[in-house]
Amino acid sequence: DMPTVAIVGRPNVGKSTLFNRLVGKKLALVDDRPGVTRDRREGDVRFGGLHFRVIDTAGLEESDAATLMGRMRMQTEAAILAADVVLFVIDARAGVLPADQPFAELVRRAGCPVILIANKAEGGTGLSGAYEAFTLGLGDPIPFSAEHGEGLGELHEALKGVL
Ligand code: GDP
Ligand code: MG
Repeated sequence: DMPTVAIVGRPNVGKSTLFNRLVGKKLALVDDRPGVTRDRREGDVRFGGLHFRVIDTAGLEESDAATLMGRMRMQTEAAILAADVVLFVIDARAGVLPADQPFAELVRRAGCPVILIANKAEGGTGLSGAYEAFTLGLGDPIPFSAEHGEGLGELHEALKGVL
C-alpha cells in the first residue's frame, strides 16, 4: 500500500505551494488571502525513488473566523489520522506565531513521524524563524522554500528515513 503524507499548518504558510512542488503540477490553489475557498487536494508523488500520496489541507469556506478554525481543525485531524508521515509547515519569515500552536498541538499528538519545514527561507532569509521552530518540540526544522524549490534534498533524506 502506498504511504500517505499529510501537509499541515496554519493558513498562508505555503502548504499548497509545497503540495504543488511535490506533485509537480498546480493542482492546489495558492492564494495569499487567508479564508478563500480552497479544496482539500490529494496527489500522487514520485520523488527521487520514493512513491507516496500527499494530502494538502485547506478547505476554507466560512467567513466566520471561529467556525473557520473549527473546520480547519477537523480537516487537519482527519488528514493526520490518514497519514503515515506529517509535514508540519511554518512560515520562517513570520517565525512561530500563536496561530501555529493549535496545529502543532494536533501534530504532537499524531503518533506518526513529523518532518518540520521552515518555509519561505529562500536564500537564507528567515533563519531566525527557522531557529524559533525548534521551540515547537517537533524536531529539527528543515530550512525550505516551496516557491523556489530549496531544501528538497534535505526533505527527501528525511522522508526516506521514515517512509
Ligand atoms: P497555504 O495557505 O498554507 O496553502 O499557503 P499557500 O501555498 O497558498 O501560500 C501562501 C502565500 O505564501 C502565497 O502568496 C505564496 O506564493 C507564498 N509562498 C509559498 N511558499 C513560499 C516560499 O517558499 N517563499 C515565499 N517567499 N513565499 C511563499
Ligand atoms: Mg492552501
